[in-house]
Amino acid sequence: MNKPLFVIIFLSFLLFRFSISPVFAQDIQVGPTYTIQPGDTLGVIASKFGVSIDDIITINNIENPNILAAGQQIVIPGLEGVTGNLTAETIPLGSSLTSLSVKHQFPVSMLIKLNKITSPEEVYAGSSLILPVTDQISLNRSVAIQPGESILETAAQVNQNPWIMILQNNLEKSWLANPAIPLLYAGNSNEPAQQIGALPFLTSLYFDKLPIIQGQTVKITATGEQGLYLTGSLSGKELHFSPTGDGRYVALQGISALTDPGLVDFSLAVKKTETSKFEISQKVLVQSGFYPEDPPLSVDPQTIDPIYTEPEEQTVKQITSTFTPQQLWSGQFRDPVDDPCYKSIFGVRRIYNGGAYLNYHGGLDYGVCANLNIYAPAAGTVVFTGPLTALGNATYIDHGLGIFTGYGHQAEILVNIGDHVEPGQQIGIIGATGRVTGPHLHWEIWANGVRVNPVQWLENTYP
Ligand SMILES: [Zn+2]
Repeated sequence: MNKPLFVIIFLSFLLFRFSISPVFAQDIQVGPTYTIQPGDTLGVIASKFGVSIDDIITINNIENPNILAAGQQIVIPGLEGVTGNLTAETIPLGSSLTSLSVKHQFPVSMLIKLNKITSPEEVYAGSSLILPVTDQISLNRSVAIQPGESILETAAQVNQNPWIMILQNNLEKSWLANPAIPLLYAGNSNEPAQQIGALPFLTSLYFDKLPIIQGQTVKITATGEQGLYLTGSLSGKELHFSPTGDGRYVALQGISALTDPGLVDFSLAVKKTETSKFEISQKVLVQSGFYPEDPPLSVDPQTIDPIYTEPEEQTVKQITSTFTPQQLWSGQFRDPVDDPCYKSIFGVRRIYNGGAYLNYHGGLDYGVCANLNIYAPAAGTVVFTGPLTALGNATYIDHGLGIFTGYGHQAEILVNIGDHVEPGQQIGIIGATGRVTGPHLHWEIWANGVRVNPVQWLENTYP
């Protein structure tokens, strides 16, 4: 490129940058606006921005604070120097103050001020931050600079002008580009926004839902070239990534219903060859499942005696923590009974015979509503059948990819270890064996060694 032409391009993009970053201006004192979201109350908005409800009412002349219309814009007081429209967003995996600043074309100092951030640690996957709405430009795609590659080559790969990329990514000198920080660019508007910036070998990496809720199955998806070897961990559990054949690598991991709400560790390592690999790690937010407490239950004391229950827990843990690399099921799971009626939901805290609320309900209980038939909810292999103290006559099915289902309190088991079962095949008869207060089917799902809420599996298709 000849020099004068480059200068013109450079100047025009300086202007371009000016035109896209008027969100903060010293001369307007009105304050930024916020678009009311469904479910917002003045209390929620006030706490989001750390201002008083009274100040919001005064500055906006709100007559009836109980009537807020979603979509209505209100002025947020006390944020001198900031204008434009603000929004609260859940921060995806891989975001940092730097990447958010680039993506929203908003200075890091303003992000810190808006969110009253005192440490970079406060920016974690699943946190909610106040961000400016950037309509003019959407840097919704990203690309990583591969080791040994220049920014010019990287830009060419994604069909972008390297000089725009340098400006948009606040890289004064192109040689400052860091392979660990992906470059953002404006993609085609009908492409979905990536959850994380591209990383070496990967084009995206995301959690299906953030923040994580206690007792949920977390689906972690990475997309990228074939033949990669992915390892990692979430909340201390080793992740198993499986290629799905369509360019995705998926790990399904349960988060215990007893995990303390707060931050847990996520890490991922991607290996292409022995020598070319990279690792990332980030904190991820786990929120309470707000599980209610059941009224105290009276059961046979033997069924809560640790002498019996601990070996049983060990047995079940052992069965459900193996990993079969093949996916044996396809499509959505079906209810294991006809005419499903729930007697007790997953996660409720339980107290037995006057103890403490240290237990939780690890499955979904179906009462007897249509008949006594129990069916396989999806294809798999029977890996356990037999009597247990608390679960009574129990069956476990391995569905592959670390997913297991369990059936408790059966009157009769109609399958044997090693049997392959198809969805809808009858596998047992509802009964009242083990720790029960009446006949029902206790149904549980395990995701990579952790009991999870089965309802998620009835509503979503995995992986
Ligand atoms: Zn149960």
